[in-house]
Amino acid sequence: MTLTIGVDIGGTKVAAGVVDPSGAVIAQARRDTPADDPAVLRDTIVEVVRELSAAHEVEAVGIGAAGWIDQTRSVVLFAPNIAWRDEPLREYVAAATGLPVVVENDANAAAWAEFRYGAARDADDSMVMLTIGTGVGGGIVLGGGLVRGAHGIAAELGHMSMIPAGQLCGCGRQGCLEQYASGNALVRFAQQGAKDEPQRASGLLELAGGEVSAITGPMVTVAAHAGDEVAREAFATLGRWLGVGLADLVQVLDPQVLVVGGGVVDAGDLLLAPARAAYQEALAQRGRSPIAPVVPAELGNPAGMIGAADLARLR
Ligand SMILES: [Zn+2]
Repeated sequence: MTLTIGVDIGGTKVAAGVVDPSGAVIAQARRDTPADDPAVLRDTIVEVVRELSAAHEVEAVGIGAAGWIDQTRSVVLFAPNIAWRDEPLREYVAAATGLPVVVENDANAAAWAEFRYGAARDADDSMVMLTIGTGVGGGIVLGGGLVRGAHGIAAELGHMSMIPAGQLCGCGRQGCLEQYASGNALVRFAQQGAKDEPQRASGLLELAGGEVSAITGPMVTVAAHAGDEVAREAFATLGRWLGVGLADLVQVLDPQVLVVGGGVVDAGDLLLAPARAAYQEALAQRGRSPIAPVVPAELGNPAGMIGAADLARLR
């Protein structure tokens, strides 16, 4: 049985796992992410790989990192939240561990895991995944393979422009999908609603100690499940934007299935019902052919690790 290691480099944790060919994680190692020191971060990755490969016979390493990865899957060109610029990560980790290494964008790795083992495992050709976290990440599979683009920056789906001259985005543009369909957007909608109509946000405000500015994403989820009107509307607004974004993606790519991942998916139909409605309405004008279903991701946080490990196996 071929085992590989997947390493997921998050903003706060480096999570590594030994993954078998069925996608099961059979051992794990974790460290805090030293995000401001590229040299220490490199060595942290080497350390977790050595720890796992000492106990298990592994044949390769896949690393998922938030950032732009070059076409040869070896260099992190730019990482927004980590101090990496043109980082030759593959060469460094391969030399230090003696194992073959592939580097992949983290959202691509998570999408690949859902395609192979998760919500899209019944699809054999194509899927698009949107991951709703603090921002919005994306991954595209076409013809049974990940779409990386000519310059390694494909599938930055969170930065599709939804509204000209809309909300300012961290990428420097305005009106990106990320500003309307992310966890940050959910909090913004909920805070605005609680400010405008505090009497309809009593449950949410109670959780936040009465402070609109103290409202967090998890509070919106809890309050929405408990029936708070403003919290439910925040999810409905997020869902509508998500649905419009999904419809646009279908116009371009027509995949077999659309997967929605990230923490907010725990809200279930509070998010997915308005998303599906907006998606179907946007596509209703385009004829009656069957369209891709919108399904929640199944693998959760380990998806990045599992996908990176599988890509290393298939390298
Ligand atoms: Zn943007």
